[in-house]
Amino acid sequence: VAAREALDRLIRDVPDFPEPGVVFKDITPVLADHAGLAAVVAGLAEAGRDEQGRSVVDTVVGMEARGFILGAPVALALGAGFVPVRKAGKLPRETHAVSYDLEYGSATLELHTDAVRAGSRVLLVDDVLATGGTARATVELVERCGATVVGVAVLMDLAFLPWRDALGEVAVTTLLSVG
Ligand code: IMP
Repeated sequence: VAAREALDRLIRDVPDFPEPGVVFKDITPVLADHAGLAAVVAGLAEAGRDEQGRSVVDTVVGMEARGFILGAPVALALGAGFVPVRKAGKLPRETHAVSYDLEYGSATLELHTDAVRAGSRVLLVDDVLATGGTARATVELVERCGATVVGVAVLMDLAFLPWRDALGEVAVTTLLSVG
C-alpha cells in the first residue's frame, strides 16, 4: 500500500517522450523521495520472499539502466548479490547475448557468462514492463547460464501492452498497473 501510494503520488506522465504519441512514465521523482524509495524497494523485495518472509533468491538481475538503481537495494534486502544486464558492447568480459525486436529495429542485451551460477534462483528487477521484450530477453540470458528465474518485479506495468504474452509462465510482481 505504501509503495502504491508513493507511485501514484510521485510518477510523472511526460507526453510525447521520447517520440510524439508516447506518454512516458518518469519514475525519477520516486527515487528522489526517501519514503517513496524505501517503500518501493521493500515492495519489490517481497517478490523474492516465501510466506515466512525468507528470501528465496540467490541473485538479483537488473536491466540497464533503472533496473540497476532499484535492483541493488532489493538484492541487499534479500541477502543476495546483484548482477547487471547491459546493452550490447558495455560488458568487458565474455557474454551471452540475446536480441529482440523493437517497434523499429532491434536491441541486444548481454550478461557475463559467469555472473549467474548454474542452478541458482534469480529475481529480475526493472522499473517498467511495457511490451515485455526486455524482460523476456533477460529471462533467456539467465536461463542460458543454467539458472532459474523465480520472478520479475517491476514498479509499474502498462496493462494495455502484451507483456503477459511475452513472459509466458514467469511470475510477475508489479506494484502499480496503469491502463
Ligand atoms: P519493454 O521491453 O517494451 O517491456 O520496455 C521496458 C523497458 O523500457 C524497461 O527497461 C523500461 O525502463 C523502459 N520503458 C518503457 N516504457 C517506459 C516508460 O514509460 N517509463 C520508463 N521506462 C520505460
